[in-house]
Amino acid sequence: MVVMKFGGSSVQNAEAMERVADLIRRRMRHRPVVVVSAFAGVTDRLLALGRVAASGQGGEALAQVRSLQKHHQDMTRNLLGEDRLYGCCLKLQPHFQELERFVAGLVAIRELSPRSTDYLVSFGEVLASHIIAAALQARGLPACWVDSRECIITDEQFTQAVPDYPETYHRIRARVRPLLIEGQLPVLAGFIAATREGAVSTLGRRGSDLSAALIAAGINAARIEIWSTVEGIMSADPAICPQARCLRRVSFREAAEMAYFGAKVLHPATLIPAMEKNIPVYVLNSRNPRNPGTQITARSPRGRSLFTAIAARKDVSIVTLSAPRESTPHLFLQEVFHVLHRYACVADLVAVSELSVSFALPSSRKTTELLAGLRHIGTVSVEDKQAIVCLVGENIRGRAGIAARCFTALAEAGINVRLISQGASEISLGFVIQESDTAEAVRRLHARFTVEKQSKRQRPAEARVRSADTNVVALTPPAGLDPKRAPATFPAR
Ligand code: ASP
Ligand code: MG
Repeated sequence: MVVMKFGGSSVQNAEAMERVADLIRRRMRHRPVVVVSAFAGVTDRLLALGRVAASGQGGEALAQVRSLQKHHQDMTRNLLGEDRLYGCCLKLQPHFQELERFVAGLVAIRELSPRSTDYLVSFGEVLASHIIAAALQARGLPACWVDSRECIITDEQFTQAVPDYPETYHRIRARVRPLLIEGQLPVLAGFIAATREGAVSTLGRRGSDLSAALIAAGINAARIEIWSTVEGIMSADPAICPQARCLRRVSFREAAEMAYFGAKVLHPATLIPAMEKNIPVYVLNSRNPRNPGTQITARSPRGRSLFTAIAARKDVSIVTLSAPRESTPHLFLQEVFHVLHRYACVADLVAVSELSVSFALPSSRKTTELLAGLRHIGTVSVEDKQAIVCLVGENIRGRAGIAARCFTALAEAGINVRLISQGASEISLGFVIQESDTAEAVRRLHARFTVEKQSKRQRPAEARVRSADTNVVALTPPAGLDPKRAPATFPAR
């Protein structure tokens, strides 16, 4: 059994749908399950619609509902053809009526809670999954739509709900396995789920990856395939680091750290079920299925790179809290974490001294309520426009001198490091810098500490590569070069 997840951009038009159907057809004997997300851009449009409705602009909100309806009709026509358009639209009609009613409600009460946000965005996945199931049927596949809200059960942290793993696995096994045994092709909406009481919840942005992993774990699938329109997991964000390249193999833990610290390929929690059941995950490109993509497994091969990848996340704030002189250090810390817990706020990086504590968190999480809560404990100062950079690699486990080399490289570029975390995870080194230094820091560290993992045969003739803006960088040592005499920038093993 194999779970195949397709993002919105993989099913953008008839031609893309054809490719997807073909990929599925070729895996039919492995009994695939298909997981889809909303069509490209739809989740953002629904969120924007929610804001308009909650601000009381009824006319504009209704216009946006109509425009979304038109968009889905166009997609249906495109993916199913004129003949089947009417039948499919008839099936979708009740969903649009419901969406319109719901939006009218938001306009009336002028409020958009996390709970109603989840219900609102769930329409994107519900509609797309129905249309895609019909499009697969139209291409001769035995697709049958399965309601993921009956399979994936979460807590009540709406917009970022956490699955109840045992219950979810149990339900998936009960609902999906029998269909596979009958030879059907189950199609499920990713991202959306429900609480035990039946309220619609979602797993957080890009959550359909996690849905795919949950379903795979529930049915004990042999592999999880995440199909999108990127080549795979990159060693850094190519938008800021042109030297970034596609990684062939990474470990579960490396991928999890990268996702957590900003690499946008996978939802950070995707790896939890995969790791738990040891199911390999493949990140693949539906436009170029012959490309090997990235394979994520329990162990990655030990390459020469010191680091496998560099992730970076912008829009970070540093909050520093100083305790009054009379405080007791351990009580002070306890209170700080208590406040963080109360506002469901996760600090990404923490540094502690006797009577002060600094932590980095996404700026969006730095709410007025949180700051007010912290001010009860001590003096608060905030620095915005920061970024977290995280170097990830199994190779740094137990190695000495990593931090020194990394921070020297940054100091040479005049980049000041504000907060540091090493040791919390054996395979990553995280730190906070000014947001405006992000690109420079990532390029520099990438050039210094990551090398190509290529076989001898594939090595480019030009063994030494000079990067545009840094000192000499040897990505691949020239044949016959004594590694001890390699440029200092080349990580010795
Ligand atoms: N459609 C949702 C989002 O855009 C979930 C997903 O794409 O996985 O965040
Ligand atoms: Mg999406």
